[in-house]
Amino acid sequence: MEIIFYITIFLIGLLTGSFCTLAIHRLPLHENITHKRSYCPNCKHKLSFWDMFPVVSYVLLGGKCRYCKHRIAPKYIIIELLTGIVFVLFAISICNMLKSIENIVYLILGLLYITGLIIISGIDKEKGLVNEGVLLYELLVISAYIIYLYILGNVNIYRYVIYLFIMLALLINDTLYLKRKLKNNYALQIVLLSIIMACFVGSINFIITALIAILAIVIRNIVYKFTKQKSKKAPIAYFLCISNIIVLIIANIFYWVV
Ligand SMILES: [Zn+2]
Repeated sequence: MEIIFYITIFLIGLLTGSFCTLAIHRLPLHENITHKRSYCPNCKHKLSFWDMFPVVSYVLLGGKCRYCKHRIAPKYIIIELLTGIVFVLFAISICNMLKSIENIVYLILGLLYITGLIIISGIDKEKGLVNEGVLLYELLVISAYIIYLYILGNVNIYRYVIYLFIMLALLINDTLYLKRKLKNNYALQIVLLSIIMACFVGSINFIITALIAILAIVIRNIVYKFTKQKSKKAPIAYFLCISNIIVLIIANIFYWVV
């Protein structure tokens, strides 16, 4: 029974990963992510139903577009596979507790939260910016999470409510006032992302997340210096998201096991 459960989670992860690659590609271009049919980025040919199966279509077509034979970048299949693996690891990290309804709710909220992080990290890695729409989506996930904690009743939610008000104030300030002067307010978006993470994984786990991300950025910059590559600005949100997903899964394992 458990195997079937994890295979289902993996397949949901693959489909979600497929959606993430689409969102990462389209959101910075301000394209519709739900209504417009997928197309080949090279020849713009609309993809058929059979071209859109995660991983399977890629392998069957030999990593090429069916219509123009243009090579499809392997990053798409890598994001799909990684999303599937991360989904399964997250489910495993809370596996002992899946018998109760409240933990199934936590599983769903966690997967929704991780999906947002994957999209944020992908866009930051490619374009060096944080998409505000995805931040807003994470804000909704966090709000649902706070309601979940409130219903559980054994957690003091007042500090979360304060967090939520700070985030709303920052977001409103960002969209209404700062936009006129600054095109892309990266620093403020990193602050927002940090508060969102602190809400979902807790303050201590967020501090560990930030330390790992800072270490990774320092190592990246040293590598760039030594290899004398032209260094672009480090994608801070990308490093934060990846280290946060790892910390979340490891923290869950320790929390449930101990
Ligand atoms: Zn094509």
